[in-house]
Amino acid sequence: MERGREEEASSAGGRGRRRVFSGMQPSGEAHLGNYLGALRQWVELQEEYECFFCVVDEHAITGEFAGEDLPARTLDLAVSFLAVGLDPERCTIFVQSDVPEHVELSWLFNSVTPLGDLERMTQFKDKSSRLESVPAGLLNYPVLQAADILLYRAEVVPVGEDQLQHLELTREIARRWNSRFGSYFPEPEALVSKAGRILGLDGDQKMSKSLDNTVGILADSEEVWARVRTAVTDPQRVKKSDPGRPEVCNVYTLHTHLTDPEKLPDIAHQCRTAQRGCVECKRILAASIDERFAPFRERAAHYRENPDEVVQILEAGAQRARGIARETMREVRGRMGLDWRTALAR
Ligand code: SF4
Repeated sequence: MERGREEEASSAGGRGRRRVFSGMQPSGEAHLGNYLGALRQWVELQEEYECFFCVVDEHAITGEFAGEDLPARTLDLAVSFLAVGLDPERCTIFVQSDVPEHVELSWLFNSVTPLGDLERMTQFKDKSSRLESVPAGLLNYPVLQAADILLYRAEVVPVGEDQLQHLELTREIARRWNSRFGSYFPEPEALVSKAGRILGLDGDQKMSKSLDNTVGILADSEEVWARVRTAVTDPQRVKKSDPGRPEVCNVYTLHTHLTDPEKLPDIAHQCRTAQRGCVECKRILAASIDERFAPFRERAAHYRENPDEVVQILEAGAQRARGIARETMREVRGRMGLDWRTALAR
């Protein structure tokens, strides 16, 4: 059966649904920002597209990491993928390092990627400016990203706005490679997340685990409330009797993503007229988050009790991904003159 799926997926030219690739670094359990900015959209995409969702562990090693922690983080993120509703029957879930062709293609793409393009990347400039010694992997990170996407000849890539520059570089790499070795790779389109930039509970910086301004998607009711009660609100609303401004309050923005839309006009009105205090408003938000997370916790509990099931899902996903990756690399090596035995035997 797996073999049948592999062959079906390998017929890149004749496939019906458009192909999507997206990846997430293994930082352990996913958090609210990952869910609102990416995972929620991935769950919808799997219904319409042929999706490949990848735990990109080889990207994680370009920053600070501990080798002994990485396996558990990889598994925890995979559990989060499954917990939010990614379905291995509808999409392919796998770990990047299980498909060595990602690294091979990224090396080959290095040959068509100008150094100046990499040095211009905003993320590289930001991250490298904070380091005394800059690893070459940080510079080449977007080339590996291009390889991740183009290895599957994906046509659509869900991204946050901060990744648009990298996706444009992927398109440029595809163009350069195609013009040199013949048209083969699509120029993938960005599908920008409607959620926009999700600010953390500090109301200031992007929601992220490293900034400790978020809440894990598997947090229980008490943990959710403990986190949400710390959220920063409209700074002008010092006392409960001060009218608030929902349009500048990040708690309200989170309500727009998570609370029943029918309740939003009342939440905004009660805020503006100072009829409801911020603590009560945050309690409503915490309840919305808790309700959203409840099925995630239930599914995660099952997978945590059965980690072998997760490993099997990841292995089946990697097998399927490898089938496509091998076909792409056969073509790429041939066109670049690296399939020398076959060429000489002709
Ligand atoms: Fe923000 Fe709600 Fe407080 Fe208004 S009542 S400032 S929306 S937390």
